[in-house]
Amino acid sequence: MANSAAPLQAALPSVDRVLRLPPVGALIEAHGRTVVTAMVRAVLAESRAAMGAGDPGSVPDLSDGAVAKRVAWAVAAQARPSLRPVFNLTGTVLHTNLGRAVLPPEAIAAAAEAAQGATNLEFDLATGRRGDRDSHLDALVCRLTGAQAATVVNNNAAAVLLVLNSLALRKEVPVSRGELIEIGGAFRMPDIMARAGCKLVEVGTTNRTHDADFEGAMGPRTALIMKVHASNFVVQGFTAEVAETRLAEIAHGHHVPLVVDLGAGSLVDLSRYGLPHEPTVAETLANGADIVTFSGDKLLGGPQAGIIAGREDLIARIKRNPMKRALRCDKMTIAALAAVLRLHADPDRLAERLPVIRLLSRPQKEIEAQALRLAPKLEECLGGVAKVDVAPCQSQIGSGSLPTESLASFAVVLRPETGKRGRGRALKRLSAAFRSLPVAVVGRIQDDSLVLDLRCLTDEERFVDQLRRLSLDRGGAR
Ligand SMILES: *Cc1c(COP(=O)(O)O)cnc(C)c1O
Repeated sequence: MANSAAPLQAALPSVDRVLRLPPVGALIEAHGRTVVTAMVRAVLAESRAAMGAGDPGSVPDLSDGAVAKRVAWAVAAQARPSLRPVFNLTGTVLHTNLGRAVLPPEAIAAAAEAAQGATNLEFDLATGRRGDRDSHLDALVCRLTGAQAATVVNNNAAAVLLVLNSLALRKEVPVSRGELIEIGGAFRMPDIMARAGCKLVEVGTTNRTHDADFEGAMGPRTALIMKVHASNFVVQGFTAEVAETRLAEIAHGHHVPLVVDLGAGSLVDLSRYGLPHEPTVAETLANGADIVTFSGDKLLGGPQAGIIAGREDLIARIKRNPMKRALRCDKMTIAALAAVLRLHADPDRLAERLPVIRLLSRPQKEIEAQALRLAPKLEECLGGVAKVDVAPCQSQIGSGSLPTESLASFAVVLRPETGKRGRGRALKRLSAAFRSLPVAVVGRIQDDSLVLDLRCLTDEERFVDQLRRLSLDRGGAR
């Protein structure tokens, strides 16, 4: 076999020859010699491998035109950013894998401005001395939460790690067994505790934890009591947990702080927007928590960040930890987060101005009207490959917030027109076709259908414009 491939390999053009082809010259003009040369090498190597395989069907076309075309394709593919926009039609508003919160224009502008030139990130303009990057955020956080002080790090996982390492190194931390949670992406409370250098003391049982369990766990080596907001699951049935106010009393009775990992951390009462109530940071502090940690890109609707708010002396200790330097936020995050916090100062208009709240509170009637507008357009582009229906559905808040609450929404439901046997593959092909659109469309597969929940579809025009590029092969290959 290897021998019969040898004469074919001799037909392979040299790298130099390909680089001298006029269309490849144009690519060098546009993308630079380094990239184009690398792609020529890759294309030739691919051809060599295909010939070596000895399968007559895989022998590539080695004409100048064909090789130049493949090089152009390879160059275009590598020039395309890997991270790009998608349409989130999964029905999960705060989708961690799709980048969580969509930022408001004010935050985008602030981040861009911070990126464009020098800023007073750590420079005190009043004194001309070195400043503190937290100074751009801490007063805003304090005003919105009632905290004495605040600091900000890269995300909430980092916030929890930093708080535990700063306040409980080589000491004990009692946590209810019902809160030893995994958030996903390998964030498990017991592992974080271990990495933070503190000793987890498990308290109570999975479903029930009482005051006395905590009292019994307190000792001379106890550094703090930790409460973790059960953000992505619920314990139902025969359950008991110690109220936050009571937990604070127990902690304070033993002269240690209560630390609450709130997770989503809303700054405003969501029920004013017709959404289910989620404990706010201010409420948690008012209940007696000494430190609260929460994410910037969940219900807060900002960039990825972890906010630590609470007692001034504790925040000072946290800021002195050298780990803080390793976990700090960059200037674009700080600029964007400050802009989002300023929007929160006016809760009356938050539902109009903050995309996360706007998407979460979008009325079902409006989404239904959108579904009815889009269904015929989808039907036209699908050309009978799938049956198109509109149907009510349930959206999720996502990112572990309020896991049992769902929001009434509307979807376009696409069901492949195949017999039961081919349906699985037809569905895979259909969702792959939507994902390979210029702006990938990501839906969810449910009950043998591709469900496109329209709650988060804001740029309807862009969505419709690209539908005609849907490439549907009707079975067979792939
Ligand atoms: C989401 C969440 C985290 C992790 O927050 P990130 O900002 O994703 O790092 C930690 N704890 C709780 C309770 C959460 O809900």
